[in-house]
Amino acid sequence: MIPQSRASYSDIVGTLRLPSLAFIDGGPVAAVGGEVIETVNPATGQVLATVAHCQAGDVDRAVACARRAFRGGVWSRVAPEQRKAVLLRLAALIRANSTELAVLESLDSGKPIRDCLKEIAVEVPDTFQWYAELIDKSFGKVAPTGEQALAMIVREPIGVVAAVLPWNFPLLMAAWKLAPALASGCSVIVKPAEQTSLSVLRLAELAAEAGVPAGVLNVVPGLGETTGRAIGCHGDIDAVSFTGSTEVGRLFLRYAADSNLKSIGLEMGGKSPFIVLDDAELTPDMIDNAVMAAFWNGGQNCSANMRQIVDRSRQEEFVHLVAERTRALVIGDPLDPATELGPLISDEHRHRVRGYVEAGSREGARTVLSADAALAGSSGAFLGPTIFADLTPAMTIAREEIFGPVLGVMPVDGFEQALATANDTDYGLHATVYTRDLDRAMVMARRLACGTVAVNGFTEGDIKTPFGGYRRSGSLARDKGSEAMAQYLQTKTIWLSIGQVI
Ligand code: NAD
Repeated sequence: MIPQSRASYSDIVGTLRLPSLAFIDGGPVAAVGGEVIETVNPATGQVLATVAHCQAGDVDRAVACARRAFRGGVWSRVAPEQRKAVLLRLAALIRANSTELAVLESLDSGKPIRDCLKEIAVEVPDTFQWYAELIDKSFGKVAPTGEQALAMIVREPIGVVAAVLPWNFPLLMAAWKLAPALASGCSVIVKPAEQTSLSVLRLAELAAEAGVPAGVLNVVPGLGETTGRAIGCHGDIDAVSFTGSTEVGRLFLRYAADSNLKSIGLEMGGKSPFIVLDDAELTPDMIDNAVMAAFWNGGQNCSANMRQIVDRSRQEEFVHLVAERTRALVIGDPLDPATELGPLISDEHRHRVRGYVEAGSREGARTVLSADAALAGSSGAFLGPTIFADLTPAMTIAREEIFGPVLGVMPVDGFEQALATANDTDYGLHATVYTRDLDRAMVMARRLACGTVAVNGFTEGDIKTPFGGYRRSGSLARDKGSEAMAQYLQTKTIWLSIGQVI
């Protein structure tokens, strides 16, 4: 039963146990030398907990345990049905503990409890279940050889994998990587973002309870420059699956080149367009989609559709409706079930986003809505939404990823200009198109240079569909769908010569 009031969430906060240690070789451990980092509640600015800060020595230990488990075959070589049963148990345990996990994540990240619950009670366990069910339905191939040989093409787990995570969807990003990595038989080391380690540490405990053997899943919290770098440069990690900024993704390619040439899968930033063609119907549902595309999770979303590219003939009508809906957004305490917009992840990040808002005004964008005064008296990192109109493609806010609650409307003249403007970016993660004409929608969808195109609705798809970016938004790697397995499996040919002895 999901609690419905702020008071019930306060009761849960009172009973929460906040994990503070790393999770290595099946149990909690302190970092070598006892180093810790503080994790802050962004809604209050108060320190929530201290968490182990893993150093290179801790990463070495986690990798050694993961390698031992992988070589020993306790997970990598067990029957597929056995791995499936354990991951299904983990999905059930996440569902059973989802309210506690959601409160933990809301406190740690500032994300509204309603969003935490949607992700953690539904999407996270569904992800583990989906990959669990894939395990005993994945077949290899037999090549056409003739009778003199049997050539088998088999897929094997790549080995020890590290998942390096961002702070904006802590448990969901962990699930997107962990579920396919564990399903494939790999051993995993997870590095959560330093701002949001708590729910991932709790997940490791649940995984052990579900039956994931010691050493197969390890969590090493810590800073990027220490823990993250130690992972990137490690000589015995076979693959890294990274989600975060393009800047840090680039570092992981360098780390790999300078160490053991580990495989690097990258999911990175975006500057995604929301395209409104001249015939689009501006229904309340469509306007809701436009607002959520930009402001969901406070705009701290890699696929945030901040660049709203609208046919000039519809700009004023669109801007009016979007501003009206935005004014009705409920901003405030993340543990209040009514809240739609919580604080940003930190005061430092809020400062950065405000810099972009100032750049927008300075460079000539028209301010339609500025709600920066929202919760002005609060000590949390709150920042109300801003809407700009009359954006031009050269403006800083039209080019750089803001990762905050800023929506910019860019007027264009016709289909071709809308398409060219949408593609005029270094990124290529996501796009939304609104039109009643499905021919134009399909032409647009095929010609947009990005990994996901949503037509007549803002969505990133579901667990069955792959997610990833073109250009500086990603490598060829994909999260979600059966395509995600490619990050964690490698291909082997076994050629059996026949008839040599007859
Ligand atoms: P970030 O790049 O700062 O951090 C991501 C991870 O890398 C963290 O765990 C961090 O500790 C680690 N890291 C940071 N510096 C490092 C270094 N020098 N060496 C090794 N590791 C280091 O990103 P963030 O601020 O946590 O997340 C926001 C970014 O993530 C945005 O750019 C967003 O677009 C992107 N993102 C992308 C997707 C996607 O699927 N494409 C999803 C969510 C977020």
